[in-house]
Amino acid sequence: MSKIYKEIGIGFIPVFLVFLVFLGVNVIPILFVSALGGSLLYMMKTRGGIGASAGGGDRKSKNRTPAFLTFDEIGGQDRAKKELMEALDFLIKHEEIKKLGIRPLKGLLLTGPPGTGKTLMAKAAAHYTNSVFMAASGSEFVEMYVGVGASRVRDLFKEARARAVKEGKDNAIIFIDEIDVIGGKRDAGGQREYDQTLNQLLTEMDGIHTNDAPRILIIAATNRKEMLDSALLRPGRFDRHIEVDLPDKKGRLAILHIHAKNKPLAEGVTLEQTADQTFGFSGAQLEGVLNEAAIYAMREDKPAIEQPHLASAIDKVMMGERTDKETANGEKERVAYHELGHAIIAELVRPGSVSQVTVSPRGKALGYVRHNPPQDHYLYTKDYIEDQIMIALGGAAAEEMIYGGRSTGSRNDFEQSLSMVRNMMDAGLTSLGIIDREMVTKEQLMKENAAILDALMLRTKKMLDEQRNVFEHSFAILMKEEVLSGDTFRTLFDASVSQSA
Ligand code: ATP
Repeated sequence: MSKIYKEIGIGFIPVFLVFLVFLGVNVIPILFVSALGGSLLYMMKTRGGIGASAGGGDRKSKNRTPAFLTFDEIGGQDRAKKELMEALDFLIKHEEIKKLGIRPLKGLLLTGPPGTGKTLMAKAAAHYTNSVFMAASGSEFVEMYVGVGASRVRDLFKEARARAVKEGKDNAIIFIDEIDVIGGKRDAGGQREYDQTLNQLLTEMDGIHTNDAPRILIIAATNRKEMLDSALLRPGRFDRHIEVDLPDKKGRLAILHIHAKNKPLAEGVTLEQTADQTFGFSGAQLEGVLNEAAIYAMREDKPAIEQPHLASAIDKVMMGERTDKETANGEKERVAYHELGHAIIAELVRPGSVSQVTVSPRGKALGYVRHNPPQDHYLYTKDYIEDQIMIALGGAAAEEMIYGGRSTGSRNDFEQSLSMVRNMMDAGLTSLGIIDREMVTKEQLMKENAAILDALMLRTKKMLDEQRNVFEHSFAILMKEEVLSGDTFRTLFDASVSQSA
């Protein structure tokens, strides 16, 4: 019916305009105002404005994704999952907590680096509590028009309640990703629009009557907790904080197994090795590794993923895609010596730690050495950091030894070395003692920095000079093969060392 009215309207408007022109009325301002109004309406509809939460737009389609994900499909994060489930039990056992007079939970804050599974946790929470699941991102509430963000917050809560009633559920979980976008500290010269949006969120949270169904629980995620306004964090709002951190080795293995479920692995492939080599990777990056490995297998027409596919996939996720940068021959040789410098020192200070030496360009790097951390490390001794600095300096030291001078290829290594020295200073591991940066002069810092780096550079050069044999044995093979696995490099290394002994 409404369609018929619309068509009649569309037909009537031009006839009416022609009639006005016939009467001698200037219709240009009318046309201009209607065009402006039309485009404003269109923008509000397509950008997920009020219309989106009521009917169309992106957010709706995201919300309609069934929340059938369970906690079993989230690898690692055992502590975070346990804490979250405990908190969710409050929602499920609401009668019991009422008897004890416990204040029900309104908001949960998940904090941690990107890609660690915060969204997955929220979805699993909805499944666990048999709730309606609604998701939005902080940036969706940001608009140039004052009041639009606040009205979107209102609509989100309204829609969550309506959907829970319609679907016959007792609970609704609203997940707000990137809460820091709207929940940043308000006194820090913030904008009025952000303030209004945050105020609306606080009002909605205060208005949650946790005793009446549908009960609403808000789960928010951020990786910048320190930015959040204290009003958001006070008791009764987001007063439960759960850290969702980067996975340890056991967690990485569990995540790899989850994402390998639908992918064929060749016989003998072990995900243990991949878990070993991916220290510091997030769940999203681990998923990326398996996906890239499957792509490499397909490119080679292989029916299953083999270990080298996984190795290349780790490099791809870590460094970027292989590039076609054609290096001049002299340059490639220099890169080979540079990388061998890193690898030899690594093998000397931490035997068995080199996992791959490469001289084919990938991402921005012309070559690189991938290391196996012996185990996940969270505490570092002075000796350990010094070894790491020597590994970083190994490239420049090798170039000096072979060519008598360095190149710009060591810039990144020096940046790493400097940051490690800074870490040593802040941790009281240098001859400056336990210091606050404010207590010492810039000159003192520079002097200590130079003393540490010069001494370590000297030690590095000496160690490399004693291993000239290894350079001679491995250089030609590295130039030809472009990639040496850790095991191949160790065979060459051991052969050269025993020869010179
Ligand atoms: P962001 O902070 O960037 O929004 P996030 O922490 O919400 O990230 P998710 O969106 O939950 O991260 O994860 C992204 C993808 O990474 C998931 O779809 C999944 O494929 C994978 N992933 C991340 N963590 C895990 C995990 N613990 N187990 C299984 N898969 C994971």
